[in-house]
Amino acid sequence: MYPEFIEAAKQDDHSKALQTFEYANAAEKVHGGIFKDLKEKVASGTDAEEKAVHLCPVCGWVGMEPVPDKCPICNTSKKAFKQF
Ligand SMILES: [Zn+2]
Repeated sequence: MYPEFIEAAKQDDHSKALQTFEYANAAEKVHGGIFKDLKEKVASGTDAEEKAVHLCPVCGWVGMEPVPDKCPICNTSKKAFKQF
């Protein structure tokens, strides 16, 4: 759904909405990759290694340790990440 939202924001010249939708679109791709990896582990009968999860509060990027110094989507410092 985000590509349609991105296009509408471009047409309506809503730069803040455009940035939000682009961040969400990129973050959802990362989330999908994490879900795919976990699904494959379940299907193969293995379990995921327990690791801390980090969330970028600006764009919604999620990563597991080790995390980069800056968010790969919006460049927010890892100091701002929320750890779960
Ligand atoms: Zn981010």
